[in-house]
Amino acid sequence: MNAEDSIPVCGAGPAGLVAAITLARAGRRVTVFERHADVGSRFHDDLQGLENWTTEADVLEELAGFGVEADFTAAPFHEAVVSDPEGREHVYRSPRPMAYIVHRGAVPGSLAFGLRKQALAAGAEIRFHAPCRQLPDGGIVAEGPHGADAIGIGYLFDTDRADGAFIALSDDLAPRGYAYLLIQGGRGTVMSWLYDDFHRDREYLQRTVAFFQRHAGLEMREPRRTGGGANFLPPRSARRGGLLFTGEAAGFQDALWGFGMRYAMVSGHLAARALLDNAPAAYDRLWGRRLGGQLRAALVNRSIYARLGNRGYTRLLREIDRFMQRRPDGRRWLQGYTAPRLWKSLYFPLLRHRLISSRPPPDAGDPDCDCTWCRCRRAR
Ligand SMILES: Cc1cc2nc3c(=O)[nH]c(=O)nc-3n(C[C@H](O)[C@H](O)[C@H](O)COP(=O)(O)OP(=O)(O)OC[C@H]3O[C@@H](n4cnc5c(N)ncnc54)[C@H](O)[C@@H]3O)c2cc1C
Repeated sequence: MNAEDSIPVCGAGPAGLVAAITLARAGRRVTVFERHADVGSRFHDDLQGLENWTTEADVLEELAGFGVEADFTAAPFHEAVVSDPEGREHVYRSPRPMAYIVHRGAVPGSLAFGLRKQALAAGAEIRFHAPCRQLPDGGIVAEGPHGADAIGIGYLFDTDRADGAFIALSDDLAPRGYAYLLIQGGRGTVMSWLYDDFHRDREYLQRTVAFFQRHAGLEMREPRRTGGGANFLPPRSARRGGLLFTGEAAGFQDALWGFGMRYAMVSGHLAARALLDNAPAAYDRLWGRRLGGQLRAALVNRSIYARLGNRGYTRLLREIDRFMQRRPDGRRWLQGYTAPRLWKSLYFPLLRHRLISSRPPPDAGDPDCDCTWCRCRRAR
């Protein structure tokens, strides 16, 4: 690729748009190809948490360091109410935000609209209704997930309820995952985020809604269904020749709980940096240094979390309570729990091998089934 050629970016999600902003700001020509009619079309004003615990620096500061401004709604959340399987509440607070609630979708104030505006202002071209059918020889691949290791099923709604973040740990609501209710500025998202038993997703959603009606006063106006899947498996290399894979297209996702937005934006920026330095081969080193330990730790944590079951969730919450008595800072607990450790790095290769060998073939799935998982798989 010559320096004056336009660099193709496949996919206008968080990974692709941050890559485009980085490249265009450095004076390079960039063309983003997006198969949908606009950015953010995968979501419909869903509320999602941009995690703020995996680094000491604030996530918005990290983005600012990439030249990405937070000109999208990013509401800091300092408190979460977490329920155990018996419905007992544990309130965790933090002086610094544990997460920022962002809006996902083609709506004003959303992450997608904020990033699109910055990419266009920097001079990037975005072509809509333009699926990448054949991948170019060089450029950035940011097409999002190719499978569903976890699925979310939920509702978006309007509400008069005050802002809040509620989480429930229970295999009766979300096997091996968690259920959540987020409310911000009169909009809400209630979701069951499952890692198992995908075919019974609607049953879990019903129970989740009933749970939050009982425990958090959930009231939904004009509920609309939402959902989708996420895939995770840190690659050995995220490069195929001159193609650099970013975000979930590379398998960069938080295997533990599915907080993939930050991985997507960081990897998009790093891929762009490698191209700007004319050193695509350096990309693996760049993401390995910034994301590798975190990705491995998340997979190891996932394997432990998946074994907890309802009794284990209760024990985990008691452990957090004890931590909070000593140091009332939920962000600190999250930081310690999710941090890369030597023992996690040593355990990781075994898990990776197990995960790869136990994956179903990509075309598996019942053609008559209509659960979120089967729909996600068929849509691929
Ligand atoms: C229900 C749900 C809830 C979630 N909640 C959270 C959360 O609270 N916090 C969090 O951090 N993460 C969350 N995630 C995960 C997060 O949404 C993803 O990790 C993140 O969006 C990945 O970004 P990406 O840019 O890699 O891919 P995407 O956001 O999927 O973007 C990919 C883009 O590429 C386009 N595309 C696909 N194929 C092609 C093609 N062939 N040609 C052209 N364009 C193409 C797509 O249309 C899309 O616009 C959630 C995911 C789901 C499904």
